[in-house]
Amino acid sequence: MRNTTARSTLSIAISTALYTGMALLSVLAPLQAAESTSTTLSDSEILKHFQSLVQIQSSDPPGREQDVTDYLRQTLEAEGIEVQLFTKEENRPNLVARLRGNGSKQPLLLMAHQDTVNIDASKWTFSPFGATRDSGWIYGRGTLDDKDNLTASLMTMLALKRSGVELDRDVIFLAEAGEEGSSHLGIQYMVENHFDAIDAEFCLAEGGSVRRQQGKEYFVGVQTGEKLPKALELIAHGVSGHASIPLQSNAVVSLSRAIVKVAEWQPPVRLSDATTSYFSQLARITADPAAAARYRAILNPNSAEAQAALEYFRRDEPATAAILSSTISPTMTEAGYRINVIPSETRATLDTRLLPDEDESSFLAQVTAVVADPAVEVVWVPRDNVPAASTSLSTAAYQAIESIFGAEYAAPVLPVTGTGATDMRSLRGKGIQCYGVGPGIDIEDGALGFGQHSDQERILEQELYRFVRAYSEVVVALTTE
Ligand SMILES: [Zn+2]
Repeated sequence: MRNTTARSTLSIAISTALYTGMALLSVLAPLQAAESTSTTLSDSEILKHFQSLVQIQSSDPPGREQDVTDYLRQTLEAEGIEVQLFTKEENRPNLVARLRGNGSKQPLLLMAHQDTVNIDASKWTFSPFGATRDSGWIYGRGTLDDKDNLTASLMTMLALKRSGVELDRDVIFLAEAGEEGSSHLGIQYMVENHFDAIDAEFCLAEGGSVRRQQGKEYFVGVQTGEKLPKALELIAHGVSGHASIPLQSNAVVSLSRAIVKVAEWQPPVRLSDATTSYFSQLARITADPAAAARYRAILNPNSAEAQAALEYFRRDEPATAAILSSTISPTMTEAGYRINVIPSETRATLDTRLLPDEDESSFLAQVTAVVADPAVEVVWVPRDNVPAASTSLSTAAYQAIESIFGAEYAAPVLPVTGTGATDMRSLRGKGIQCYGVGPGIDIEDGALGFGQHSDQERILEQELYRFVRAYSEVVVALTTE
């Protein structure tokens, strides 16, 4: 350990919770008795930055991250932290701040996005940009997505800088533009044109959360992999003609049959290290014995019990079913142009989400075999050229998250697989080990309409503070010996 004094200040500043049974205990234990005089990570400062960031509108569309960038830049530069902007489109900068380490380890990247989804103001009870505090909650667009991670990254940068501690590695903060649908000027632009500015061994970003059930921590979900969004198209060919004479080769009918076949098809179930760990831990912690039996059964995917569990998941727990295999959802069809003409060609677009290790050509062959109709072509159409990649569970970063979040929340840490797409996939494709983390969220809240992207997006105020501190502890653990 170098620079003990500086490190002690930092540890005091970011540790208000008591840590037990973890690696950091030896570092923190002597310090907890001491009164902290530092305000480095005080609740009031976290609240100030969080509310300010929520109050700056950065809805995408239309997308205007500039005001958020200005705020972050002023805050960072005021403390002597170097900042660079990378801008592809006016008013939509990506901000990169860097704290320099001694280079003994590869950099750590803290990533969060500055933009939010847009709003329908008429639907909001509290002002969407008010950051209103009410009964222990803070309301506003971006409170869960992603101004919580933005605040955690910012506060961590400030705390590290103020501590003066010698870092083993550079810590890079990337505040992205365009995550909500304009990644060509956000993460894609950065990866393709300025990768040197963000290249790192590990990345922390959004995509995880601490799941609470009835107000109690159930598990800490860390996103370690995600499905790969692709698009398939079905093209049915037939003979065109007057609709007054029905034809068996009708392309609308062939297409409909093919859609039903692919929708009813269950692609093969395949488990990864992450899903194996996820289901075996879920089986241990669930209070419902029938659920536990299903989670255990699926670990042996070829058994009859697994088949029954899968049928249950497909019907009653579709989000669980979706992480077990590649999936297909038919979403758009294109057929015909007037009532009395049988069209010669019809098309359907299939939203396809591949498991990270799926082979595209073999998957296409399987779908073609399921359709089993020479009148219907199955083809890949362009969507997303990011290569698939998952993140290892046996890294220093995962271990730090597991130990620090596990102790803070007194709950097991489970690797979760995202069914949607986050910007981490662009970084994983470049070899960065990325972990999605987030604050405590009541599982019940999403269904009640308080979740991410909802009209009443909100965060528990105490969970914000807790998350920012746990996040900072992970960064400290990864940057100091
Ligand atoms: Zn987000």
